Amino acid sequence: MDVDDPSPRAGGGGADPPRIRRLEESVVNRIAAGEVIQRPSSAVKELVENSLDAGASTVSVTVKDGGLKLIQVSDDGHGIRFDDLPILCERHTTSKLSTYEDLQTIKSMGFRGEALASMTYVGHVTVTTITEGQLHGYRVSYKDGVMENEPKPCAAVKGTQIMVENLFYNMVARRKTLQNSNDDYPKIVDFISRFAVHHINVTFSCRKHGANRADVHSASTSSRLDAIRNVYGASVVRDLMEIEVSDENAGDAVFKMDGYISNANYVAKKITMILFINDRLVDCTSLKRAIEYVYSATLPQASKPFIYMSINLPSEHVDVNIHPTKKEVSLLNQERIIEIIKNIIEEKLRSSNTTRIFQTQAGNPSALIQANTQKEKGTDIKMASGMKSQKTPVNQMVRTDPRNPSGRLHTYWHGQSSNLEKKTDLVSVRNVVRSRRNPKDACDLSSRHELITEVDSHCHPGLLEVVKNCTYVGLADEVFALIQHNTRLYLVNVVNVSKELMYQQALCRFGNFNAIQLSEPAPLQELLLMALKDDELMGDENDEEKKEIAEVNSEILKENAKMINEYFSIHVDKDGNLTRLPVVLDQYTPDMDRLPEFVLTMGNDVTWDDEKECFRTVAAAIGNFYALHPPILPNPSGSGIQLYKKNRDSMASGEHVDNTDEDDIDQELLAEAETAWSQREWTIQHVLFPSMRLFLKPPKSMATDGTFVQVCSCVSKLMGI
Ligand code: ADP
Ligand code: MG
Repeated sequence: MDVDDPSPRAGGGGADPPRIRRLEESVVNRIAAGEVIQRPSSAVKELVENSLDAGASTVSVTVKDGGLKLIQVSDDGHGIRFDDLPILCERHTTSKLSTYEDLQTIKSMGFRGEALASMTYVGHVTVTTITEGQLHGYRVSYKDGVMENEPKPCAAVKGTQIMVENLFYNMVARRKTLQNSNDDYPKIVDFISRFAVHHINVTFSCRKHGANRADVHSASTSSRLDAIRNVYGASVVRDLMEIEVSDENAGDAVFKMDGYISNANYVAKKITMILFINDRLVDCTSLKRAIEYVYSATLPQASKPFIYMSINLPSEHVDVNIHPTKKEVSLLNQERIIEIIKNIIEEKLRSSNTTRIFQTQAGNPSALIQANTQKEKGTDIKMASGMKSQKTPVNQMVRTDPRNPSGRLHTYWHGQSSNLEKKTDLVSVRNVVRSRRNPKDACDLSSRHELITEVDSHCHPGLLEVVKNCTYVGLADEVFALIQHNTRLYLVNVVNVSKELMYQQALCRFGNFNAIQLSEPAPLQELLLMALKDDELMGDENDEEKKEIAEVNSEILKENAKMINEYFSIHVDKDGNLTRLPVVLDQYTPDMDRLPEFVLTMGNDVTWDDEKECFRTVAAAIGNFYALHPPILPNPSGSGIQLYKKNRDSMASGEHVDNTDEDDIDQELLAEAETAWSQREWTIQHVLFPSMRLFLKPPKSMATDGTFVQVCSCVSKLMGI
């Protein structure tokens, strides 16, 4: 590469741009190989898949030093032809694919001919193989894609044995991180266990080099449950339910799913999700999330399920080529498939859930409490990494500028002052609170259960049917959304339904919430003062009274901190700061502008001296806070833009301004408002309605109070067809 660059240098006096050079082929190959074989367990997965592709009925794996020293995979498959040995480990040599179009119908697990080649660039590979009808086999070693010597005849048993030694010997950094990090052996065992559950007619074994006992040993069987029992134990199998769904009539969405899922009695620290799509062991993050979501909302106590699922669909519907190790796949009609699977799981769980509650209450209620507490500890960790944390301190996110027409809390703050008046005898309130010391007894659970039963018994079957099977059409205005059910169109009050949904979810997730961590503790007293100051009905004068109310309310919350934390994941620290809020719907955080109102409602409207009323009122306060109210910033579309003029005096004096001068608009506030409104719209469509379909039990009152209004019985008439 020493040819001079004929083009003139740019810039003259500055430093020369770095010369582009062609990398040496062996370096390119090593880089590529490191992507395909990321760690010892990925090599094992590739080798085992090759054995399965070769039709093996026995696959044995031996591993030394977590796979860094040695990986050996032996099978009794069809073996490799003598003539193919010279090119076996070259890149892009495969017996499974010849044209690009073959990719569409590929059934085997391998197809790129990259795995073996890659292993020879980052380790020493030795192959021993014999094909049917041969008297002896051959052994040959490979390095950097080529044979190191001519194949040597040797004694061999049916099939192929591939040995990979000193993996990553030439990738110092990779080797170091793998040596420092946890041994890869558990991952390898995990892979083999999964294969054993799916390929029930293959015998798998996996052991450490030199060990007498295998860590996985599966025997070929005809029953899936036997296979699961073999690998994961009888206690897992006891808590499994069979599921099955197919969708063969639905035009291009042909698919079939079958598997086993855990019931309410299965309690684990981690989800186990074994997913095979067209017999390939894969990950499908969105499906996994959807399932986790259904569990945590339906069976919070058993929200880390065991799932084995096998999905089959026409191979042309699966794009296997989106990930270098074929680990993630993407599916045609993925959303629809996930929706169907979600529904069937939910149905199954709902029936099992009822049984569970009765069983536990009759039996040992403290066991359930224990399970709850354990679960809560686990979730903290998960949330720390999994949740989008609030970046801005919460007290800065709350709109407090009284000049800002949008910032006034009073606009949605009706009738609070009469509640305040009720609390004249502050001392008695305190005493009641103090008398309520021990929230942790079994009746908590039964009062919560009573509330859930109330929800069930108030449910309107007709509306339930509408909600479950409706299609979201769009937003009609700031409060109403348009939905379609069969040939009928309905206007749905988004605020009302979301409030109810959040209330019901707060009861369902009771004691098992994930947490939203506030980036900075928010002092309760300040929040309360903010709420009181914005409450116009309180007037401007009573500053002292407001202070006192704020103080008392924050005391009440502090005294009940333990209980609201344990059951609702509302965490108040010992200094009276709010630090955590519950996740009521996954992927949804409430509008922090409404936090002061929420805290005041908690202080004012919660009944602390009666278990059931206490849970009801806390859940209602959460429902109100998390509901999808219109954002506090006014909608800037249409004439709403006037509200974002910097000079508001002209508005106040009632002058009518027609032209909105660009410069006169508070662009920052406008952008914020636009984001808030479009985000809300997105959330309504993608979070609220899908969750409503799954979880909402609409109360009978919603049929008559204007929450659901039928607008037209004939869609075609509306559309002018
Ligand atoms: P791919 O599996 O994508 O074809 P690999 O690099 O994994 O690519 O394997 C290359 C080829 O080597 C395969 O196509 C197959 O013909 C052959 N092969 C690899 N492992 C085995 C095995 N255990 N038994 C028989 N043939 C094998
Ligand atoms: Mg392969």
